[in-house]
Amino acid sequence: MSAIENKEFWLVVGSQHLYGEEALAEVKAHAQTMTDALNESGVLPYPVVLQDLAVSADKITNVMKAVNYRDEVAGVITWMHTFSPAKMWIRGTKLLQKPLLHLATQFNESIPWETIDMDFMNLNQSAHGDREYGFINARLNKNNKVVVGYWERPEVQKQIAEWMDAAVAFNESFNIKVARFGDNMRHVGVTEGDKVEAQIQFGWTVDYYGIGDLVQYVDAVKDEEVDALFDEYAELYEFDYGTYSQEDWEASVKVQASYEIAIKRFLNEGGYNAFTTNFEDLHGMKQLPGLAVQRLMAQGYGFAAEGDWKTAALDRLLKVMSHNQSTGFMEDYTYELAAGQESILQSHMLEVDPTLARSKPKIIVSPLGIGDKEDPARLVFDGKAGDGVVVSMADFGTHYKLLINEVSAFEPTVEAPKLPVARVLWDVKPNFQDGVKAWIENGGGHHTVVSLNLTTDQIIAYAKMVDLEYVTIK
Ligand code: MN
Repeated sequence: MSAIENKEFWLVVGSQHLYGEEALAEVKAHAQTMTDALNESGVLPYPVVLQDLAVSADKITNVMKAVNYRDEVAGVITWMHTFSPAKMWIRGTKLLQKPLLHLATQFNESIPWETIDMDFMNLNQSAHGDREYGFINARLNKNNKVVVGYWERPEVQKQIAEWMDAAVAFNESFNIKVARFGDNMRHVGVTEGDKVEAQIQFGWTVDYYGIGDLVQYVDAVKDEEVDALFDEYAELYEFDYGTYSQEDWEASVKVQASYEIAIKRFLNEGGYNAFTTNFEDLHGMKQLPGLAVQRLMAQGYGFAAEGDWKTAALDRLLKVMSHNQSTGFMEDYTYELAAGQESILQSHMLEVDPTLARSKPKIIVSPLGIGDKEDPARLVFDGKAGDGVVVSMADFGTHYKLLINEVSAFEPTVEAPKLPVARVLWDVKPNFQDGVKAWIENGGGHHTVVSLNLTTDQIIAYAKMVDLEYVTIK
C-alpha cells in the first residue's frame, strides 16, 4: 500500500494574547505534553505535530494555508485551551481544504476545588472556548468532526485514531485512479454513474481501456516471471488439483500468474491503484482474471467486477482507511431464510478478497459457467467472523448516495463441497428483515465493499468530508 505511510496531523491550539505571555507559555507547555502523550500512546496511526499557538487571525490563516499545500499534512486537530475569539478563525477555517477535528478536551481532568481561583479558570476554560470556536465551524458548514472527552483516555484517543484513518482516506481519494478493462456489464443499472461528477466530488480519475491494451502486457510476460510467482503461490496457498491432472492444473494457474504480473505492471506504469474487469469483454484472454485479481486485492489495489468503477474506487478508498485489513469487494448472492438463522451468503463468481479469509486459502481450478472461456483458477476460503460495515455507492441522477449497513459476519459451520468460490456469511443490523428492507428501499447495490475493520462513524466522517449524502442502517 504505497503513498500513505508519511502522513501527519497538525495540532493547532487556540488562545489569545489577553492572558499575558506567562499564561501563553503554560498553554504551550501543556500542548506539548498532550502532543507527546498522544504520539506515545501507540493508539494513533499517524503522528501529531504541534504548531505555534493560534493567537491571531494571521497566525491561523498562515497555518491553514500551509496545511493545504503540504501533501504530508492530512488534516488539522484543534484544541481550545483558553477562550480564543472565533472571528480570528474565520479566514483560516474558510481556506482550509483538509479534514478538521475539534478536540473538545481540557488539560486537567478534574476541577481542583481546593485551589481553583480566577487565574486557573482563565487559563483552563476549554468549555468556554469550545463553544465560541464551535459556533464558527457550524456557521461555516465545515462538517468537521468533534471528539469530546479527556485526552489521556484510550476511548478518546481511539476516536481520534479512527478519524485520522478517514482523513488520510480523504486525502488519498484525490489520488484514486481506476483503470477499466472493458465497459460496464451490459444492461446492468446500479454500476453506472457520472464519472465527471465523481472526479469533481471525490477526486476519482476513471479511465477506460480496451482489453487489447492489457493483452499486450500479458503477451509480454516472461516464463521465468511466471515460474517465480508460481513458487510464491506454493508457499502461501494450499494446492487442490481436484479432477485435473497436475499438468493441466498448473498450466491454468500459471495463466493467472501471468495476468497478475501483467495487470500489476499496467496499473503501476499508469499510476492506477484500482481497476475493473468484465467477463463479457475478454478478447484475447484465455480466462477471466480470478486468482490474479484476488492477489492484487490482497496487495491493496481496489477492484470491482463487471466494469463497476464506483465500487472499485470505493474499495481502494476503504482499503486505505483500514490499512487493507479485512476489507474488500463483495456481492450479495443467496439468502438463508430459515427462522433464527437468517443471513446472506456473500461471494462473487471468482473475485473474493483474501484479506477476509479466516485461514490459508486454497487454489482450485473450476469451470466458470458463464463467459465461454477456459476454466479459471481462484482462491477459495471461508470468511472470518467479526462486526463491520458494508457500503454501497449509487448514482441517483442528481447526486451520489452512500449506503452503510452494519453487519455481523460469522464463520460457516457447514461444508459446501461443491461451491467453487470463496464464501463470506453475515447477518445485517438491526435485524435481517429490517436491514434488508432498508437496503432495498434505499436503492443499495448488489456490489459492495465490506470492512470488518472500519466503523460506521468512519464512513460517515469521510462522507461529510466530501459532502456526500449517506444513509445508515444499524
Ligand atoms: Mn458482480
